[in-house]
Amino acid sequence: MRDLRISITDRCNFRCLYCLPETEEAADFYRRKSESSEAPQPIRHEWKPRSHFLTYEEITRVARIATGLGVTKLRLTGGEPLLRRAVPELVRQLSELEGINDLALTTNGFHFDKHAEALRAAGLRRVTFSLDSLDRDNFKKLTGRDGLGELLAAITRARELGFAPIKINAVIIRDLNDHEIEVLAQFARDEALTMRFIEFMPLDSGRAWQREHVVTGREIRERLQAAFGLEPAGMEHAAATATRWRFKNSKKGQGEIGLISPVSEPFCGQCNRLRLTADGKIRTCLFSLHEHDLKPLLRGNATDADIIQWLQAVVLKKEPRHHIGETDFEQPARTMSAIGG
Ligand code: SAM
Ligand code: SF4
Repeated sequence: MRDLRISITDRCNFRCLYCLPETEEAADFYRRKSESSEAPQPIRHEWKPRSHFLTYEEITRVARIATGLGVTKLRLTGGEPLLRRAVPELVRQLSELEGINDLALTTNGFHFDKHAEALRAAGLRRVTFSLDSLDRDNFKKLTGRDGLGELLAAITRARELGFAPIKINAVIIRDLNDHEIEVLAQFARDEALTMRFIEFMPLDSGRAWQREHVVTGREIRERLQAAFGLEPAGMEHAAATATRWRFKNSKKGQGEIGLISPVSEPFCGQCNRLRLTADGKIRTCLFSLHEHDLKPLLRGNATDADIIQWLQAVVLKKEPRHHIGETDFEQPARTMSAIGG
């Protein structure tokens, strides 16, 4: 396990149709798509007091212990991580840990501008934004927020401050934003960004996911191949989730495409990720049906040695693979927003 993803809040100011589909437009989209008259029961978000969530000191302690066990990569996520107070303070604590060679943040970008400088000064080097549409109305439909302008400004700001590489995540859903695949790729090329197309996974709070909504990585690749011509850009490392492509005849740094295909081409066998939820649960897989509660140890009098032993036992229980698309698949009770993508 080399990669620890830390969710610092399960709250969010967006209502993405593939994550927290709580808007009228989301209901409309899925209603039109659904063949069955019985709507699935949505997963409701429960309000919890602040003490329910790990403090920055507790998070840093877990990260320090994890780095001692071989973790080299940390990512802060959520919910929307920038809704939590004083995130640069946490970044500073984490960036000072020995053994971390990659510290990143995933954000919807809406509040990035006001924290950008402090985040950079605290030691953040890398940021990933979520951007699923370049059309203002479609962006609003997808996210529940009229925030395309803020997001584009955030990307510009990140570049000015020297964050690199800047990656963009786009979840593509059939009949919603699949007509924008080429436009998003062109944006990556023009702006010299890494655009990562992600397959829609059954982790939405509406439990409305259907296989038919998924636009596979292969289909996206074929379309981009036809529109631009692509050539392989090599693997980042053996456990990387994305296959990487460059625009034909372009040089390194002139935009890149990443295809993340967990539904159609699972990469579970190479997975080296662990997740820590905002309320202190370790999840060994996005699709885990069991989670491991670390908070009682952190708030009891467990020593670091106790936690090391506990973590090692937990990791040995990591699931061999997910079961999306199989008859025995069961969607976890937590949504992506409460796990941390
Ligand atoms: N709020 C931040 C953001 O949107 O960037 C961070 C948390 S969000 C859960 C992390 C990533 O998960 C986003 O890039 C989002 O697109 C992705 N995501 C959320 N729900 C998903 C789903 N059902 N399938 C695939 N990716 C999903
Ligand atoms: Fe919020 Fe991110 Fe989920 Fe969108 S994907 S609802 S921004 S947590």
